Amino acid sequence: MKYLLLLAGLLGLAVSAGAAPTVSVQMRVIPATHSFVCRYTMALAADDTATTLDLNLGRQLRIENLLSSGSKPPRATRVYYPYFGDTLQQVVARFNGRARMVSVTYSGTLEGRLFNEQVMVFSGHSGWLPFRPYREYEAVNYVLEVQAPDGYQVESTSSAVEQRAGRWLFRGRAGAIEITALVARQFQQLASAGTPGIRVVKAGPALARTDTVLLRKAERIIAYYNRSIGQQDPITQFTILLPGTNADAFGLLENATVITYTDFDVATDREALLILAHEISHKWWGYGSVHNYNDWLNEAFATYSSLLFLREDGDEAGYRAELAKRVATVGDAPPIRGFDYQKYPRPVYRRVVYNKGTRVLAALHERLGTAPFVRLLATVAAGHVSNTDTLLEIVAQTSGPATRAWLLAELSR
Ligand SMILES: [Zn+2]
Repeated sequence: MKYLLLLAGLLGLAVSAGAAPTVSVQMRVIPATHSFVCRYTMALAADDTATTLDLNLGRQLRIENLLSSGSKPPRATRVYYPYFGDTLQQVVARFNGRARMVSVTYSGTLEGRLFNEQVMVFSGHSGWLPFRPYREYEAVNYVLEVQAPDGYQVESTSSAVEQRAGRWLFRGRAGAIEITALVARQFQQLASAGTPGIRVVKAGPALARTDTVLLRKAERIIAYYNRSIGQQDPITQFTILLPGTNADAFGLLENATVITYTDFDVATDREALLILAHEISHKWWGYGSVHNYNDWLNEAFATYSSLLFLREDGDEAGYRAELAKRVATVGDAPPIRGFDYQKYPRPVYRRVVYNKGTRVLAALHERLGTAPFVRLLATVAAGHVSNTDTLLEIVAQTSGPATRAWLLAELSR
């Protein structure tokens, strides 16, 4: 019972209605060694009657303490996780009462690609948070508290709700592994003047001309998406985080994207522009499972959305060239429907889920015409559609059974 009260205190009893778990993350960063200590608590929603809760945690992290509201202490074991192709730690808690909470205290050191002399990056690709097996991107309501030493600042996908003496508090709703904190000695910011409110947050001492260009382009991309794919569920605020660690770029469900490239000029580099448009669109395209072929609902939709923006931007030739480039890789790639990533090397995944999926969407676009196609995308986006069967039903309702049958055949060949 003592444990239970402690955990309830940590969460501030911020458990809200609905199926999403509530997560509390209390992290202390140690920049000198690029390391951190974290207390992570997950509480299941009141209407979730699960009797066990499993949490996966990277094997490089060191578990210091485990607590739960169950009658026995949770156990941690090593398990093989196919998605990572690696062994990791799994914490298993069993419950016999109504409160379902697990708390894990652990420490770790960031991999080299996640920091530089300016910044430490805790985000979707940092492997710093526990998650339920095969549910990396499930939505969680979170409270994030970060403690950093004197001389450091902390930024996240939204502004801190509280900040005092080396402690920052953020709240939001994010994919389980996407809760984000950037820690740096200094940040620079740019913000759009109007609505939606768009921020560019860059780690380091100075902004560059390309950062202003990036903000202007992001404004155009978001304005276009808000009147097309996002017309039923528009973006009202958005944050672009630029840590400068030169590792990768990814979109977050929580109206934000992390772009780590330092050489990123969306005015002169079409590839950079496509990355920006792709990652922003993941605000809508992030509900399909990444563990099966439904990932095409994320990646093909984001890729095709970025191509649509090229066209909107007046680059019809670019749209055609980029589409042709992707179609050319498809060849005899296996069908999208039922595609199992475990049976193929990674490049096949890209050909099927990204490129073949993009080809199918381009063909659907041509079949329906632009206005009905865009309305369909907007409906799918607003519905947070997470599997292909639901998509097929929406297509049947909006475009008729013949188009449904056609789409099913395209996805199956
Ligand atoms: Zn993507």
